[in-house]
Amino acid sequence: MSADTPLMPIPGKIDPVPTKRGAPARADGKVNLVGLPKAQVREALLAAGMAEKQAKLRSKQIWHWIYNRGAMSFEEMTDIAKAQRPWLEDHFTIERPEVVEAQVSEDGTRKWLLRTHDSHDFEMVFIPDADRGTLCVSSQVGCTLNCSFCHTGTMRLVRNLEPSEIVGQVMLARDALGEWPSRPEGRMLTNIVMMGMGEPLYNFDNVSQALHIVMDGEGLGLSKRRITLSTSGVVPMIEKCGDEIGVNLAVSLHAVRKDVRDEIVPLNRKYGIEELLEACAAYPGANNARRITFEYVMLKDKNDSDEDARELVRLIRHYKLPAKVNLIPFNPWPGAGYECSDPERIKSFSNIVFEGGISAPVRTPRGRDIDAACGQLKTAAEKKSRAERDREAAAQAD
Ligand code: SAH
Ligand code: SF4
Repeated sequence: MSADTPLMPIPGKIDPVPTKRGAPARADGKVNLVGLPKAQVREALLAAGMAEKQAKLRSKQIWHWIYNRGAMSFEEMTDIAKAQRPWLEDHFTIERPEVVEAQVSEDGTRKWLLRTHDSHDFEMVFIPDADRGTLCVSSQVGCTLNCSFCHTGTMRLVRNLEPSEIVGQVMLARDALGEWPSRPEGRMLTNIVMMGMGEPLYNFDNVSQALHIVMDGEGLGLSKRRITLSTSGVVPMIEKCGDEIGVNLAVSLHAVRKDVRDEIVPLNRKYGIEELLEACAAYPGANNARRITFEYVMLKDKNDSDEDARELVRLIRHYKLPAKVNLIPFNPWPGAGYECSDPERIKSFSNIVFEGGISAPVRTPRGRDIDAACGQLKTAAEKKSRAERDREAAAQAD
C-alpha cells in the first residue's frame, strides 16, 4: 500500500459518514481525461490554454477516440493535427487502472487485480454466459460496512474509486475482450453489475459520473437496462439513484428478521427492513417489466428456514414490490464464521418463494476457484481491530 493517500479513521461500524476520500493528484501533474464528461474535457483543454473553438471540436474528437475506439494515446488520434498531439501528451493522459494480475477460472470467469495510480489494489470480475457477459465492477477500495459474511467487509476503506477508475474497469474489459471500436451488436460484454468491492451508494457522485459515460451513446453505449447497481441498503440515496442514474436496482436483503439482519448487515441498525422496503417500493422506474432484485445469501441455520422464506414472500407482497429474488449460495473464505445452507434447504426455500409467485432462482457460484465469486473479493488492506483503533485514538488524544 502506498502512503500517498491520506488514510482516514473509520468513522463508525454501522453508518460511516461518507466523506470525500478522493485520489491525490497524479505525481506527473497531468490530467487524466478518462472519466470526465465531454464538457469537462473541453474545460480542461481551455484551462491548459487551447483556444475556445478548437477546444469544442477537440473535446468531441477526443471523446470519440477514448470511448468508441479505445485509444490509449493521443498519437493514435489521426484526425487531430499531428503538431498538436505532443502538446496534448504533455498535459493530459488517457489512463486506465494498471493490470497487476489476470486470472481465469475453470468455468471461464476472469478476475483482474487492478492498481490505482497511487498504488491501491482492487478487483474486477467478468462472468461469461452463453447469451451474455457480465462485468462486476468495484466502486471503492475496500468497504466501510462490515457485513459479517463478506470478505470485502474485512478490509478497511482505503478510498473511493474515481470516475476514471470506474469507467476504466469497463474499458479494460473491452481491451481484454478485443471489443473496440464500440458497437451495439455482437458484444461479449453486455451487462454491468456494480457488485464488486465497496458500497456504490457511498460513492454516489463518482459512480453516477462514471455510469453516465458508460450509458452515453457517444460514450461506451451500454443501455441503463443492462446495468444493475447493488446496495446493502443506503436508504437515503435510493431515490436519488433512480432519479439521477436510472439503472436497475439490486438490494442485499439477506434476512427478513431484524435481529438477524442487524447481525449480518449491520447497516440495518440504522436503516431497518421496513424503511428499506418502502424506499424500494418507491424506486423510480421499477415496475413489473423492470423488477428490483433482492439478493439473499443462503447461510446455514441463520436465515434459511421455511419460515424465513414465507416471511420474505409476505414482505414482498405487503410492500407490493415488483421483485425477483436471487438466492446466492454463501461463498466461503478463510476465517468466515458461516457455512452455506445445504442444497435441499436452498431448494425448499426457493420453492416456497416461487410458489408465492416470485421468481427465486438459485445462482450458480462462478469463479470460486480463483476467489472471484460474490463476497470473495479482497485485497491487502486489512481492517484494524477495534482494540487497535482505540489504541490509536487514545494516542492521538494524548
Ligand atoms: N456493497 C454492495 C455491492 C457489493 S456485494 C452490496 O452489499 O450490495 C455484491 C453481493 O455479494 C451482495 O449481495 C453481497 O451481500 C454478496 N456477498 C457478500 N459476501 C458474500 C459471500 N461470502 N457469499 C455470497 N454472497 C456474498
Ligand atoms: Fe460492503 Fe457489500 Fe461487502 Fe457489505 S456486502 S461489506 S456493503 S461490499
